[in-house]
Amino acid sequence: MYAKVIVDITNEKLDKVFEYSIPSGLEGVLKVGSEVVIPFGKGNRRTNGYVVEISDACEYDCEKVKEILQIAEKKVAIEGKMVALAAWMKEYYGGTMIQALKTVLPIKKEENAKIRRYVRLLLDEEAGRAKLSEYLDKKNQKARARVLAALLDNGVLEYGFVIKKLSVTKTVLSAMEEQGVLRVESEQVLRNPVRKCEQMRKELSYTGEQQHAIDVFREDYAKGIRKTYLLYGVTGSGKTEVYMEMIARVMEEGRQAIVLIPEIALTYQTVMRFYRRFGDRISILNSRMSNGERYDQMMRAKAGEIDVMIGPRSALFTPFPNLGLIVIDEEHEPTYKSEQVPRYHARETAIFRAELEGASVVLGSATPSLESFYRSQTGPDGEKPQYELLILRNRSRRQNLPEVHVVDLREELKKGNRSILSGRLHELMEERLLKKQQVMLFLNRRGYAGFLSCRACGYVVKCPHCDVSLTAHRNGKLVCHYCGYEEPEVSVCPSCGSKHIGGFRAGTQQIEELVKKEFPAARVLRMDMDTTKEKDGHEKILEQFANEEADVLVGTQMIVKGHDFPNVTLVGILAADMSLYADDYRAGERTFQLLTQAAGRAGRGSEKGEVVIQTYSPEHYAIETAARQDYESFYAEEISYRKVMGYPPAAHLAAILLTGKEEDFLSTAADYLKRYAERINRQQAVIIGPASPSVGKVKDVYRRVIYFKHAEYDVLIEMKDRLEQYIEINPGFRNIRIQFDFDPMRIF
Ligand code: ADP
Ligand code: ZN
Ligand code: ZN
Repeated sequence: MYAKVIVDITNEKLDKVFEYSIPSGLEGVLKVGSEVVIPFGKGNRRTNGYVVEISDACEYDCEKVKEILQIAEKKVAIEGKMVALAAWMKEYYGGTMIQALKTVLPIKKEENAKIRRYVRLLLDEEAGRAKLSEYLDKKNQKARARVLAALLDNGVLEYGFVIKKLSVTKTVLSAMEEQGVLRVESEQVLRNPVRKCEQMRKELSYTGEQQHAIDVFREDYAKGIRKTYLLYGVTGSGKTEVYMEMIARVMEEGRQAIVLIPEIALTYQTVMRFYRRFGDRISILNSRMSNGERYDQMMRAKAGEIDVMIGPRSALFTPFPNLGLIVIDEEHEPTYKSEQVPRYHARETAIFRAELEGASVVLGSATPSLESFYRSQTGPDGEKPQYELLILRNRSRRQNLPEVHVVDLREELKKGNRSILSGRLHELMEERLLKKQQVMLFLNRRGYAGFLSCRACGYVVKCPHCDVSLTAHRNGKLVCHYCGYEEPEVSVCPSCGSKHIGGFRAGTQQIEELVKKEFPAARVLRMDMDTTKEKDGHEKILEQFANEEADVLVGTQMIVKGHDFPNVTLVGILAADMSLYADDYRAGERTFQLLTQAAGRAGRGSEKGEVVIQTYSPEHYAIETAARQDYESFYAEEISYRKVMGYPPAAHLAAILLTGKEEDFLSTAADYLKRYAERINRQQAVIIGPASPSVGKVKDVYRRVIYFKHAEYDVLIEMKDRLEQYIEINPGFRNIRIQFDFDPMRIF
């Protein structure tokens, strides 16, 4: 037996693996992730390394292969566990071991030798504000005021930014440093990105439901039971308070916690709630940090300087020495699935990591993913659920849920109203604007909405085999992106004969213009991909709206996440069908989540909120149940659809995405791959495709997809393993990139 070993896992060049033979005494004992002692280099220096692969045959320089000396003494180091995690990810999601290792290990990239410098605020909020007004009062301290104001907003700024963009001299900075206001530091210091504030925790008495969830966790923890919990609680039911109490319990035992929060919800306010409770023991990761900054935070975690890491998906790989708990907030968010190989899902990966470490996992959401709710239900044969369900049904501060009106757009057309604003919505907007209250208009557009629907009767053209919407292609055909089924585009509705059948074309910009035209006095803000391109563009718009510098906010799904605007009393969802008929089996689920979240934006303050949902399909269960905020009824309908169609979580789906520059070549390769898959398909997986994905060609690269469906995940993995071997030995695939995606979040 042979093992591939990496010696320096902090180096970017991870693909430097060395092959060793395994002494017979260690066969079967050695695992992927084991730390071993090996003779290394010319002098056979004793060096430690990690096993990343075990194989029967020797691959490289077999005459000269050296033998592993022994397993390293100490118990499995954190690195070993991360290597084992990478091995699992490679197997479970496809890709290479190197790709997996680069995902899980904190790697210090060789950044430009240039040392980056930062300016950090040393004062807390209150002292900072006081100092700022002091500066502002003096004539000659405007530069100091500029720096301080910027620091109060950001905590840390890049040195170059301060000098160039704020036009401040070095002398000013050293004067401020002397005053103890700030510090100039270089990247070598392990930075602490969390800005200090008063660490004060308001004591609150938990609701009965919160207390129950906490007790279940505490009791299990004391008994040594480690498992996955699904904390299903409406927005504002106090889930975050429950997480913090659970984290505190784990910390009592000297263990650490990871809290995953979608990047968009990772706001200053959220971080501060954790800071108030845990102070300096927390740190954060986010995508705006440089590689060096991220690396530093990972090292602080490893060194035991912190106990809680808060961040998006990649924070999952924080190398805590004794991890006790992983919390995944808003666990239904699609951003928890990686779009790079290995295309891992943070939820499953967290559960596997927790198993390796003897930790627990808490998944939280107001609209749980079908996957998680399914796994929290008792199985058909009375099997115990995989996750334990903990429920918070009531809002902790007893605000009322908003009143929801569903407007049937077919009726609007009958009345001769072709505008995107229904009569009802128009009326209510007028009323709110008169009262100086704020309105949010939401267009739940997801990328390319190419489906065809009838504005007179609501009919949507779907694939007869897959029950997802067909997409209009430029060649005048309607195409199914799962199976490739095609039919000619129609110009009259097959159901009612109306000519008003076509695609959805409205965008946020048109809506903004329309609102300005119809309500000339209203101040309108727009938030979408275009208006948020610049750094912090997103936060700036939200802040303007929060400061009531605008009356109407028009936007895409970006506007529905997490923010509290107490003066918003009306939310309009302009075309609920846009996400409902996306060409994707998760369209219903996504729509329910978006509508529920959007509706939750109305009436956060003392005024009661109202919501208008405009749709051509008011009878669709996703819309009906979202209007009632009834998750459980939605779940019941949706899961039966998934079961009938064999979609996840009732079964499993794997996509193989093939991309290449030459279309003919690609087609041939896809056909070969499908034929080979059919030949080895002993377990009778359903093989669909190859089809051209929604975006068939990106930057001159063509794409094809093949789907596999089977009730058992393992069958799909076996299929992947065989196909990977086939691809590797077959020169015909050399110029084609092939990626696997298991239980994809969207179709391609
Ligand atoms: P969720 O995470 O479920 O949306 P949060 O934990 O953010 O809910 O709670 C919503 C608000 O209610 C927060 O301001 C929080 O401080 C407050 N809150 C939570 N639990 C309680 C409680 N038991 N008593 C009073 N206020 C609470
Ligand atoms: Zn029709
Ligand atoms: Zn189809």
